[in-house]
Amino acid sequence: MRAMVLNAPGEALRAADVPRPAPAADQVLVRVGACAVCRTDLHVLDGELSHPKLPLILGHEIVGRVEEVGSAVTRFAPDDRVGVPWLGWTCGKCAYCLSGRENLCDQARFTGYTLDGGYAEYAAADERFCFPISGDYSDVAAAPLLCAGLIGYRSLRRAGAPRSLGIYGFGGAAHIVTQVARHEGVRVYAFTRKGDRASQEFARSLGAAWAGGTDELPPDPLDAAIIFAPAGDLVPKALAATARGGCVVCGGIHMSDIPSFPYGLLWEERTVCSVANLTRRDGEEFLALAPRVPVRTETRTFRLEDANTALAQLRAGSFRGSAVLVMD
Ligand SMILES: [Zn+2]
Ligand SMILES: [Zn+2]
Repeated sequence: MRAMVLNAPGEALRAADVPRPAPAADQVLVRVGACAVCRTDLHVLDGELSHPKLPLILGHEIVGRVEEVGSAVTRFAPDDRVGVPWLGWTCGKCAYCLSGRENLCDQARFTGYTLDGGYAEYAAADERFCFPISGDYSDVAAAPLLCAGLIGYRSLRRAGAPRSLGIYGFGGAAHIVTQVARHEGVRVYAFTRKGDRASQEFARSLGAAWAGGTDELPPDPLDAAIIFAPAGDLVPKALAATARGGCVVCGGIHMSDIPSFPYGLLWEERTVCSVANLTRRDGEEFLALAPRVPVRTETRTFRLEDANTALAQLRAGSFRGSAVLVMD
């Protein structure tokens, strides 16, 4: 099968012809229809996440049809449409798994990082971690829901029940979480790179009450903020924009160092927390909610062979919404 392969961090992906994976007993083999491109893919590519499987097929926002099932598979049958997310396997036995926090599992494996992912014609995935995909969405439209949507949803829930929410970094996750927050009656304030009028306009078009640069303060203090941009200097900025008792949620898997800041920014029961990975329950809740909002994803499609271009454009922030690789 055709695949885009990472041989070593720091190198470009290479187009290769590799053997099609054979599904293990509890796996489905998915014929990939679309796979969205996530900032985490850049962190793996750049070596900011350590010890990836190598060589590696990136991609953890996979939508496709089941081609073949392993001997013990019970949830899916050939031709079912499924989504494969970042959380690819958990032990089911550790203290985290047994307390509803499988996102923190001691031995968790991750699609497109420690397991091969979806920058390929086929991907094998443990059926217990796959989700059925609603017929309301095409493969391309559904793909960004699998990480940008899911992590955005978990971040929103970690923010508590804010009436006003700041979102720092307005890419794939932000454009989806804005729609969910608006659906729940939350006022959204979007913070983009300084002078990025196009992203600010995009945020307003999705219902943001205000949009400005990350160097600006919102017109009113925020009840909570979510930071999707991987820039640690946004943490004190977001705290400065947040009201007493507010929470700043770091939604990314990697961030540059957070500069020191005066205690006054944290005082009055402000909190800073992070969101790591997802649980299957997050996925079930969010994928049921998305068509009811309804969440509409804005996508730019690329051919599988153009994955390096998609990654470069994501790095440069040169499109709205999410990049999605499409298999032909
Ligand atoms: Zn576990
Ligand atoms: Zn992701």
